[in-house]
Order: sequence, then C-alpha cells, then structure tokens
Amino acid sequence: MPRQLDSATREALVERVRFYRDLGLTEFYRRPVDAALLAAEPDEQPQPAQGEPVSYQQPALFADFQPVNSHQEHPIPARKPFPAPPEIAAAIPPASRAAALQLIREDIGDCTRCPLHTGRNKLVFGDGSPVARLMFVGEGPGADEDAQGLPFVGRAGQLLNNMIAAMGLRREEVYIANVVKCRPPGNRAPAPEEANTCSPFLFRQIDVIRPQVIVALGATAVTYLLGARQPLAGLRGRVHSVRGTQLIVTYHPAYLLRDPRQKKEAWADLQIAMRELGLKPPARG
Ligand code: URA
Repeated sequence: MPRQLDSATREALVERVRFYRDLGLTEFYRRPVDAALLAAEPDEQPQPAQGEPVSYQQPALFADFQPVNSHQEHPIPARKPFPAPPEIAAAIPPASRAAALQLIREDIGDCTRCPLHTGRNKLVFGDGSPVARLMFVGEGPGADEDAQGLPFVGRAGQLLNNMIAAMGLRREEVYIANVVKCRPPGNRAPAPEEANTCSPFLFRQIDVIRPQVIVALGATAVTYLLGARQPLAGLRGRVHSVRGTQLIVTYHPAYLLRDPRQKKEAWADLQIAMRELGLKPPARG
C-alpha cells in the first residue's frame, strides 16, 4: 500500500513541485521503493528489556544493503522527442484574421482529442485582438478561466492585466492564449500528450495573428513553443524566434504571485518586448 501523506506535507510538496516547475524543472523521477523496506518500520524493532545487553547488530532495514548505481538499476526513461510543429501557414490579411480565428475555433469544436475534455466546463480558446502586435502564451486554464471560457481572468490574470498596463497597452490590444485549451485537473501542468495534441491549434492561432512579439509566460509555454525543455533561467534575457516571430521568455504571473521578488526580473523581460515593439513605458502620473 502506498504510504499516505498528511495534508500539510502533501500541500508543501505540491508547492515545492510548482516552484520547480515555474523554474523550468519539469521532470521528476521517483525511484521504486522496496515494499519490504516500507514494511520494516524502525520503531517496530524489538526493544531490549531493562538490564539486557544492547546488541549493536545492523538494523534489518539495511541488513542486505549493497551500494548500487541507481541509474543502472532504474534507468531514467528517455525523453520523448517533441513532434515537429506544423508548417507555417500563409499570411492572412488583417481584415480576415477574426474569421480565420473563428475557423480554428470551429475546427476544435467540442474537442475530445485528449483526456482533459472530461473535466472541462468551458474550452478556453483565446482572447484579444486578431491583429495584435503582442501575444502572451500561458500554460492552460485554471478554475476561473474554465468557468468563464476566457484566458487569464483569475488572480494571475489580474497581475497579467497590470503587466500589460505597465507596458502602456490595453488588454484588448494584445492576444492571450494557452498551450492547452482545457483545464488540467488540480491546476497540474499539462501532460506531454495533452500539450502536444493541443499545441497545433496554438500554432495556427499564431500563424493567423502574426504578432511581432510573443511573450511566453513560464516553463510550459516556452517548452511547447520552442519544442525543447530547458530551464527558464537560461532562456530569459534574450530574443528567441518561433514561427517567424520574436519570442521573449518570462515568469508565469502565478509564480510572480508566489514570489513577488521576481517581479523586477519579469519587468526586465517585458522591457525587452517593449524595445522590440518600439514602445515606451507610459508616463507615471
Ligand atoms: N494560467 C494560465 O497559464 N493560463 C490561464 O489562462 C490562467 C492561468
């Protein structure tokens, strides 16, 4: 039987995994635990009676311990390669972009392509201007987004709105979408199969809108946009390219809510995006 964690330990563990995920560390491996080790709790060992000599035998837990190379015994599974992204579609004139986005929405339909549909309330397609020069890509809908069918409308969305305003833009002027369009249960990161099934629709949205700059919010967004898993820290601070568009990488607003000290870093990233867009921060007043 797997050992049950108490709720405080479980919550702390979930927080820690989220923290690593926000930093771009997304793969965790758990070595199989020998059932015999779990069964032999140290405090189940017989205690010597009063006055009896204490024997210093090796405890049962380590009785036949052999140093092993755990990597040899339990090889870490090879990472699956990312599927090749679809070819970049031909440019669509600005006046036809809203209709082209609508066609993609109709293609998605009442999607059952991956298991995420089973927990879905509303599919979250995307929101904003079909002719946006700036696009934000997040991970996937949370509870608020799933209820309203719109991306970034919860607490992280409020912070994203503030980030957009700090750049001197209105939310209606940019476009916001996610890697997956249905909420992963418990706000977990989308599984590779889910993200790989859904991301071609994101690529099609990008091809229609053709923003000048995309800002990837967090590790999941940048992983599936670039088709490579790399720690976020190494990707920030420079301009990448995706589907002929400049890509800037920053922290996910939900991470910034958990660690507001990183807002300064995120602002530095947004300033790179502003420089590429030729934007000046609005005058304070
Ligand atoms: N987090 C995301 O990544 N996307 C949303 O739409 C909301 C929260």
